[in-house]
Parts: sequence; C-alpha cells; structure tokens
Amino acid sequence: MVKNQLQQKEDVRNLSYDELVKYFEGIGEKSFRATQIFEWIYQKGVWSFDDMSNLPKSLRDRLKQDFDLQPNTIADKQISKEGTTKFLFDLYDHEKIESVLIPTETRTTACISTQAGCKFGCRFCASGIGGWNRNLSCAEIVTQVLHVREESKKHERPLSNIVFMGTGEPLDNFQNLMKAIRIINSDKAINIGARHITVSTVGLVPKIKELAQQGIQIELAISLHGYDNESRNLLMPVNRKYPFDELIEACREYVKATKRQITFEYIMIKDVTCTDKAVVSLKKAFKGIICKMNLIPYNPVSEFDHKTPSQSEMQKFRDRLEEFGVHATIRTPRGRDVGAACGQLRHASQNSK
Ligand code: SAH
Repeated sequence: MVKNQLQQKEDVRNLSYDELVKYFEGIGEKSFRATQIFEWIYQKGVWSFDDMSNLPKSLRDRLKQDFDLQPNTIADKQISKEGTTKFLFDLYDHEKIESVLIPTETRTTACISTQAGCKFGCRFCASGIGGWNRNLSCAEIVTQVLHVREESKKHERPLSNIVFMGTGEPLDNFQNLMKAIRIINSDKAINIGARHITVSTVGLVPKIKELAQQGIQIELAISLHGYDNESRNLLMPVNRKYPFDELIEACREYVKATKRQITFEYIMIKDVTCTDKAVVSLKKAFKGIICKMNLIPYNPVSEFDHKTPSQSEMQKFRDRLEEFGVHATIRTPRGRDVGAACGQLRHASQNSK
C-alpha cells in the first residue's frame, strides 16, 4: 500500500472495493462493511468516519486509527462568466493541482488532473512549464471528482462526464488512474458510465496497448496536434520517442481490439496546424481508423507566441476535413477568463496568468 512520509496513515480512498473487503475480513468484520464505506464516501459524500452513522462507534474508531480520510484542501475557486469553475487544491505536501467543472446545456463535466505538473513539455501547453513533481494517488484523483460533484449541485444538471484532461499525463500514472476509473465507474461508488469517462493522452504507445487490454469501455482521446512526423516533432517532444506513424498504428490496433472509436484532439494554431497540407496528410493518416476529430482553438498561454486562427479560418479548416471524409467538430473554449480552458491549467500556483 502507498503510504508516504508526511501522511501517517493510508488514505482509505486508495483502496479498491475488493481491497476494502479484504481489510474487513482481516479484522474479523463482515464484508458488507466495504459496501457501507463506499456508500458513505462516494454516494453520500461524507468527509469523516464520524459521520458514518450506521457503523458502530468501535468500528469508526478502528477505521480512524487505520486510515486517513482528508479532503484535498480547496485553496481557491474561480468562476468564469459562463459558469466554468476552476478549483485550486493544496495537497498534503503543498503540491497544488487544478480541476475544472464545466456545465453546459447538455452535460456537466469534471476535468481532472492526474499528476502534479507534467513531464512532456508540449510547446503550447501551460501544464508542462513548471516541470513534473509527482503522480497523484488514487485518493487524490477521486477526491477531485467528489469536490467537483458537490459544486455541480449548484447547477441544473448533475455531474455526468469525467475527462482526464487536467494537468499531467494520465497514462504516465497508469495504475492509480485505472484504480480511480474503476471507483468512478463502480455502481457501488460514483457510478459514472464508462462511456462518459474520457482519458486523453500525449500518445504513450505501450500504455495505449495496455489500455486496450483493460476490458473497460472508456473513451480514448489522442492529443495529436501534428499532421505528420515533422510537424508533431516541433510541437510535442514526446513524438521523438513515439513517432507519428507508430502512434497512428497503435490507434488502429486499439480500435480493432476494443471496437471503440478514437477521438483525435487537434489544436488549431494559426499558420502552423491549420493548413491545406495538414488536411491532406491527416486524411492519409486516418485511413481505416474509426475516429473523429476534436478541433481545439489554441488557447493563449503567455509563454508561447502562437496565434489562434480567425473563426472563418477555423471553420474553413473543419469544412475541408469534412470534405475529405474526416468527421470533425470545433470545441467551444470554456473558462478562458479564469485560465481554466484546455492547456491553461498550470503546475503549482503559477496560475495567475
Ligand atoms: N496529457 C494529456 C492530458 C491533458 S489534456 C494530453 O495531453 O492529452 C489537455 C488537452 O488540452 C490536450 O489535448 C492538450 O494538447 C490541449 N492543450 C494544451 N495546450 C493547449 C492550448 N494552449 N490551447 C488549446 N488546447 C491545448
């Protein structure tokens, strides 16, 4: 089990349902106690063992002795004009991470972080600027969801979707990510359908292969952003390790193995990614892959001098892709005014931009 120096005890949210059952068996308790704990934490949303009123006092004391159940401290909360809410959490070691609640007319989405910082240094993204410090634990991942869900109650629709598109690279924290996904998906816990959970990746080829073997129907989104090897090398250093063609091949295999469609995310940067050459190259790359494209208007990050194309340039780019038989939609930027849009989440508290 993962205990760290500053924490005295294991966080109970680092345990899967089966691990919790084993724990209760180990202390001579019935296994339905695991169901009760899951209900209290993930369904009723309590933050303390003392609030678990159907557990005997002696058992609550034992749990307090054995486990931690701390909320991630909310250090700041900013609400954009369209209702997108960005949380800044202060973790036990004072690492800061961000999560976002995105309410729209059709759904309410939580955008969740998986690492404090990011190793991958994409040359358009704020999250990698301060470097990488550590992986988030399963508890730190699911606790973000619990806070965002609580906030979502102020809006019309309950929390319906989870996207792992906050700071960090989800597939670089594979074990904790998968454990958290199973809790988020479990009908004993947060109970969000697998098809409403999206994992976004810079394209870690071996991990995409591993994900295909997990037997879970989640959505996979690939941050592609380049249209061939050369253009992707310039924007995403990870492409030198897992080149464009290898990544596309892994996506083809993923679709075959899982029978699931893949989403390619593609940033529209003026004169860089939004060109005729790109349209031709993408059509060739996507041949035989069941996929769609999510076109993301470049969100300004002060450290980079890219420009966002005009509305009509972006529209034209989308139309050309559609003509070429690639299904593409333009993602509406949300939360730009509070630095909560794609690529604007920052490492530590450098989020004053
Ligand atoms: N590391 C994962 C998860 C982060 S998802 C990944 O890269 O997929 C965040 C999404 O926002 C990614 O698609 C990322 O490429 C995109 N993004 C990063 N910087 C951006 C920017 N300045 N404007 C628009 N989208 C950006």
